Amino acid sequence: MRIPIKEVTPEIGQAHVAGWVHEERDLGGLTFLLVRDRTGILQVTIPKKKVSEEVLAALKEISRESVIECTGVVKATEKAPGGRELVPETLTVLSRAATPLPLDVSEKVPADLDTRLDNRYLDLRKPRVNAIFQIRSAVLRAISEYLWDHGFTQTQTPKIVAAATEGGTELFPLAYFDKEAFLNQSPQLYKQMLMSAGFDRVFEIGAIFRAEEHNTVRHLNEATSIDIEMSFADQEDAMSVLENVVAYAYQYVKDHCADALATLGIEDFQVPSVPFPRITYEEAIAISTEGGEPLVFGDDLSSASERIIGEKMGTMYFITEWPSSTRPFYTMPFLDRPEVCRAFDMMHPRMELSSGAQRCHIYDLLVQQIKEKGLNVDAFDFYLNPFKYGMPPHAGWGLGTERLIMTMLGLQNIREGVLFPRDRHRVSP
Ligand code: ATP
Ligand code: MG
Repeated sequence: MRIPIKEVTPEIGQAHVAGWVHEERDLGGLTFLLVRDRTGILQVTIPKKKVSEEVLAALKEISRESVIECTGVVKATEKAPGGRELVPETLTVLSRAATPLPLDVSEKVPADLDTRLDNRYLDLRKPRVNAIFQIRSAVLRAISEYLWDHGFTQTQTPKIVAAATEGGTELFPLAYFDKEAFLNQSPQLYKQMLMSAGFDRVFEIGAIFRAEEHNTVRHLNEATSIDIEMSFADQEDAMSVLENVVAYAYQYVKDHCADALATLGIEDFQVPSVPFPRITYEEAIAISTEGGEPLVFGDDLSSASERIIGEKMGTMYFITEWPSSTRPFYTMPFLDRPEVCRAFDMMHPRMELSSGAQRCHIYDLLVQQIKEKGLNVDAFDFYLNPFKYGMPPHAGWGLGTERLIMTMLGLQNIREGVLFPRDRHRVSP
């Protein structure tokens, strides 16, 4: 039976492996193949005089990145990767790769990101690139596990919707029979309705779609949002879940992804300690102004100010008590000073990772806030009705999966954390 390359050791004697030809080196009487599968690389050593005619015939057919299968004896050797090699008794070409390759999987020839993404199926074969997605998978598992263990129900809400979550321009319109519809920007309105429906605590990991016009290294047009909403809770409760879930994901990666971290060359993987420090919005704009990026009350943070504040904080942190004017209509204001609201952002020193808040559960106030933002109340009927018939106070947040992975692994471009990214210029592959 075929075994993963990682499990091939001299002790097992005989092995059957399959994978891609990472490299081929022909030294005349001796050929070395480096065979790669998801778990590692194995040297297959072929002394031409000592192997069968069938093996030699297969060897002639092989090109780099061809898929092969072989069986043979495993021997210890210091010179090969992992300290072992396999001398084949059988060698079969399962799928021959055409030449030349559009992209060098062994990374000896560097390629720019666009070329890499155009040939993503090849790019993803690179151990370093694959490691990113092993870690992404582990992060989402850890987060689901943590939320499951803390009483959250996993939900799936619609991605085709009739109303914009926050109004505005970031929407992709959709031809939906004879109606107007959109791709959802956020599960916000639906997860709030589930609070009225008595779910108490929900989480959702799903696609969000945003028609961001600008091409930046930290925006996608299709992203994966991790969302929670919890009842009988305020912004402090939501922040506590957030910092703990993020720290748990880091710890999980440290405990379970040693190989992937090593492949990425990350030696000193630091788990952030909880609680994360909290600063108010007023403190944040003061730090930014002092650092040469002047802001006044009511301004959103620019990416330059996020950098200045992040440098000063040096760790993950929260910014709390935002001006109500900067946040969406569903945010709960402080009732004794309504110009400020119960919203927060969770920041990595490099950028924003999450936004959240205690939500407004008071029907009349919510209607008033929708009007104040210049939105059409009638369009929100489906959302507002649940607030009339028993809505608990509630809070929640949305956390961008790709930004979490990007900052965790020090990736320069958010696209590197997505299998097939969607941006202003790319809808294929
Ligand atoms: P930013 O101001 O950085 O563009 P935002 O405040 O518009 O982000 P939110 O609506 O607060 O984003 O969404 C919550 C989280 O979802 C963000 O903190 C981010 O991690 C992620 N996110 C939002 N939009 C995108 C996007 N276009 N691409 C990737 N991630 C996104
Ligand atoms: Mg935000």
